[in-house]
Amino acid sequence: MMSGPERRTVRDLRRGNRAILLRALYFGGPASRQELTGATGLSAATVSNVTAGLLAEGAIVEAGLVESDGGRPRVLLRVNPEHGHAIGVDVGETHVRVELFDLAMTERAKADYALRPARHEAGLVARHILAGIDVVLAEAGVGRERMLGVGIGVPGIVEHGPAAVIHAQTFGWESVPLGTLLRAGTSLPLFVDNGAKTMGQAELWFGAGRGARHAIVALVGSGVGANIVTDGVTYRGVTGSAGEWGHTTVVVNGRRCRCGALGCLEAYVGAEGVLGRYAEAGGVITTDDEQVALAALLEDGSAAARQVVEETVAYLGAGLGNLVNLFNPERIVVGGWAGLLLGRRHLPALREAAGRHALAQPYRQTTIELGELGPDAVALGAATLVIESFLQ
Ligand SMILES: [Zn+2]
Repeated sequence: MMSGPERRTVRDLRRGNRAILLRALYFGGPASRQELTGATGLSAATVSNVTAGLLAEGAIVEAGLVESDGGRPRVLLRVNPEHGHAIGVDVGETHVRVELFDLAMTERAKADYALRPARHEAGLVARHILAGIDVVLAEAGVGRERMLGVGIGVPGIVEHGPAAVIHAQTFGWESVPLGTLLRAGTSLPLFVDNGAKTMGQAELWFGAGRGARHAIVALVGSGVGANIVTDGVTYRGVTGSAGEWGHTTVVVNGRRCRCGALGCLEAYVGAEGVLGRYAEAGGVITTDDEQVALAALLEDGSAAARQVVEETVAYLGAGLGNLVNLFNPERIVVGGWAGLLLGRRHLPALREAAGRHALAQPYRQTTIELGELGPDAVALGAATLVIESFLQ
């Protein structure tokens, strides 16, 4: 197919201007036509034409008046939250959660299905997702014609394409075509991506990453991953697996990781790795629930517990320093349930540890912050995959 700037047609340009204005209103609205002209660099005539089209199709609505110095009051415009809806799905270790949002990302309905830790059979997960879609559509009273699509956050590596083939070792999923399984039960547009990436995108759009064009969301839970955004775009690599930060080596011939390799960052700072090191140091873990166990370890004042926490901060700091050196981000957001538990108590120490490993110049240009949305933002993030497509 011929492409490139020299082949852009008038229709392409119009579609491009539409996307520019929709995005400006979605992330910066409400705004007057004059503010939009200033914010986008488009001409006043173009803004007037394109917003007239968007108003006619109902994608945007008027949102009151704002005084202008000396002149007539100006009409404010914003995206119409009712124009479309998106479903976000979180396929997690212990549940499948399906949530329906309007365009303003207000949650309108929700369905939850528990998964037993050893029961991640792909057919069962697909049935839960399809059942959840029907439930939230009925509960919210939203017709299928108003649905923009379904975003799904899953563990592991996702091959992008209609079949959405997933490789998730922790689930025992080898080449599972989740897209094909779901296509048998729904005709809605489907967007599948790694759950850490979707949670990262939620932080970037609505949380601690807001407004940053070069940002990394570093997610630490049972697994460890990163969502890397350079110049406003998520870095994916050839097949979409980029950002597997947890499987970068921090100790040659070190601890065995869940991926099979030795010495991965995840084997040291992922919840399982931290608790494993604590047990080896003589610590006693009294629960199967990783979240409860990690919280207890962080509260534990014993010498063994303090040592394990100190080492965890050092390893995670080294991993963050690597991110600074490789990507020169303006902001790193530490999220994921384990990252939040650790960061709430030890953020200054984490920053300091990162600074010991990062080069001084890029380290000075970056800030390391905690995520704002909490660990349950996977479904919200999955819904942003749908909204992203709508905004283009
Ligand atoms: Zn690994």
